[in-house]
Amino acid sequence: MIALKNATLIDGTGKKPVEGITILIEKGLIREVGTDLSVPEDADIINLNGKTVIPGLIDAHIHINGSSSLDRPGASHLIPSYNYAEMREGCLRWGVVAVRTCGQFWEEALAFREGVENGTIEHSPRVCVSGPMFQAPGGHPCYTVFMSDPDVEQFACEIVAEDTEVEPLIKMSKELGVDFTKVFYAHLNKMDYPNPVPRLSKQKLKEIIDISHRYGLSVTVHVDSPAEMEAAVELGADVIEHMIGAGETNHILSDELVELTKKSGAVVDPTMISIKRFDPLNDSAPSVWEVVKKAVKKCFDAGIPLAVGCDSGIPFVPFGEAVHDEMACLNEAGIPTLEIISMATGGNAKLLNMDDRIGTIEPGKEADLIVLEKDPLDNIQNTKTIELVFSKGRIVTDCRACE
Ligand SMILES: [Zn+2]
Repeated sequence: MIALKNATLIDGTGKKPVEGITILIEKGLIREVGTDLSVPEDADIINLNGKTVIPGLIDAHIHINGSSSLDRPGASHLIPSYNYAEMREGCLRWGVVAVRTCGQFWEEALAFREGVENGTIEHSPRVCVSGPMFQAPGGHPCYTVFMSDPDVEQFACEIVAEDTEVEPLIKMSKELGVDFTKVFYAHLNKMDYPNPVPRLSKQKLKEIIDISHRYGLSVTVHVDSPAEMEAAVELGADVIEHMIGAGETNHILSDELVELTKKSGAVVDPTMISIKRFDPLNDSAPSVWEVVKKAVKKCFDAGIPLAVGCDSGIPFVPFGEAVHDEMACLNEAGIPTLEIISMATGGNAKLLNMDDRIGTIEPGKEADLIVLEKDPLDNIQNTKTIELVFSKGRIVTDCRACE
């Protein structure tokens, strides 16, 4: 048994911090949490006086076989035994214990998820996997950022023309065990701004959403503009990714759209850090960063559930560390730190359907937690002052000896 003593606890439920907490960890699980616990004599005691404990973080939007460098492993050829080392190391170093991958070589990612779940793959965050990326012929992302790569086209995407029947693939992806459907309803040409690329028709988007729902799959829709967001929400999208893309000129997130989104129950995952990092690179485009901050605050104030996703695995957005940067972006938008920590832990766990196992620090949950040297409520950047990361009850990162 491990006993973490005298910690200040932020438990991920939204409750205010409590000081003087003891957390007992045994066989990978949180056994007890409280102020007056008796600690067994043989327990390994770690004194955390002055330190803060938060749940392990979750990234709601990654690309598991991507990279933060411009050289993108897996993009130019299929590597069946790809071990996602950059993702695994980055995430666990930065306390990210679960990820939701929103577009990748999907069958390969399912095999990886299986290994993580059955324990044959160690030292990895848990994984929630999308099916193929449904997109328009000539559209984003296969014919833009992946430059028509044939392997991406064949193993990561489903190119949907007007006469394409989408049901067989959705059925197969469900049978093979994907966690959700990912679809692009988007026009930005990220390689050649401002020339747009083809987008799916609204009819095709509707079919993909309706059929996925019939097979019990939730649908995550990548949009670049409020107009695309409106269409996706109207048609029943469960999660909206990005909301307003870097380089987009239609910025208006109207009161009506906010109201519609709130009523629909959709989760908005604004991936602010990816927009911020790319915003200055679009010289010819107007900056959207200031607009995005206001749009995110507007959603938050309206009570729309927000996810904390980064688009990690695209250039300049490193696995793991980006979650801390995304949390800082949300704080810059005006969202209080305690809420942001709940969103990135308990909230994201619900999105990944893992809230019975992780996301909050409560008895019975898996022992996935982070010890911070400094109080994150003093400054959200303090979430980076990581001393220890526990995953499934084991220390996977120990920075106590780091300088
Ligand atoms: Zn993405």
